[in-house]
Amino acid sequence: MLEEIIRLDKKYYMNTFGDRLPVCFERGEGLKLFDENGRVYYDFLGGIAVNALGHGHKEFISALKNQLDKVIHTSSLYYIENQARLAQRIVESTCADKVFFANSGAEANEGAFKLAKIYFYKKGVEKYEIITLDKSFHGRTLATVAATGQEKYQKPYKPLTPGFKQVKPNDFDAISAAVTDKTAAIMIELIQGESGVHPMDREYVQKLRKLCDEKDIILIFDEVQTGMGRTGHLFAYRMYGVEPDIFTCAKALGGGIPIGAVCAGKKVSSAFEPGDHGTTFGGNPFAAAAGLAVFDIYEKENLVENAAKMGAYITERLSALAEKHGDKITEVRGAGLLIGIQLKDEIAKAVFNTLFADGFLTSLCGGNTIRIAPPLIITESDADLFIDELDKVLED
Ligand SMILES: *Cc1c(COP(=O)(O)O)cnc(C)c1O
Repeated sequence: MLEEIIRLDKKYYMNTFGDRLPVCFERGEGLKLFDENGRVYYDFLGGIAVNALGHGHKEFISALKNQLDKVIHTSSLYYIENQARLAQRIVESTCADKVFFANSGAEANEGAFKLAKIYFYKKGVEKYEIITLDKSFHGRTLATVAATGQEKYQKPYKPLTPGFKQVKPNDFDAISAAVTDKTAAIMIELIQGESGVHPMDREYVQKLRKLCDEKDIILIFDEVQTGMGRTGHLFAYRMYGVEPDIFTCAKALGGGIPIGAVCAGKKVSSAFEPGDHGTTFGGNPFAAAAGLAVFDIYEKENLVENAAKMGAYITERLSALAEKHGDKITEVRGAGLLIGIQLKDEIAKAVFNTLFADGFLTSLCGGNTIRIAPPLIITESDADLFIDELDKVLED
């Protein structure tokens, strides 16, 4: 069966993902995923920070089914109850004043760029440059690739969308030197996910806020990965005590149903006016129902608190492991349930492969870092399974 799927994939699907991991999942339950032979895998990646509720969450599924029975899609031409209510939920629990829904992280970031640019356009100020960071990841569309500070993603697509430039992360002098009178926005991830879980320093982020205030620059946080409780805070900006002018969100927002959001504070939230931006699918009745159910379940099950608690537990145990295997683990980084375990370069790939072979899903990023982003419903005994397994793998 798997051989057949691989054959079809190779024949009919564009090969952007190379040789994928040789498994195809049939169903899931909590942290567990089962392949077609019923073999269990423990999902410590959560669809890359998407499946915050785990798999097959009963209440989530029933909310989705309930919405399917009513209506899936109408149109942005009409008012959409779930969309309005989900926007309200986000605004009432964050620094945002208004929200616009997209279908993905990249698309939410595109919306953020457009919002920052149109803000100055409407003021009659000629500002259009956007500064981002090296090692960042903002998506795969043309503008978000131009924003993504990784040569491997940009190279085939030059000339890139103009107006973007990258500077060294956590280096305030570098970013202030890059600011010109044309700088419209600075966009950063508070914890760079894709390139290996690299958190920004608190002082750096606070200085950025000041710089943006002084120079009238829109500060954008890409919280596509760090948002929705991942770091033990509903959004990571709270951990830094710094409010952005815009933050974007996607991955966990729909619990696996595609939805992204551009969330804007008072300063810029009214810059989009009729005709300035749009979407066919963004925040449709079904996707927004998923977002609403995610918020309901987060509240009922205290999942943000659980992410903080379990994040602290896992980090403590991993730190002990780092001490024990000081010759193999070089650093443990992250916040809440977004954790990078950096290994000696020469063993990282083998450790990742062994974890997979033993039924543990993680990701290898930045070349030498095992990233975990497990569902927020994770328990101590789930976490122990992974840490004991990693301990065992590092013993060998
Ligand atoms: C995943 C991710 C994106 C892109 O999201 P897509 O839904 O794949 O377009 C953008 N920014 C960050 C920080 C991400 O982690």
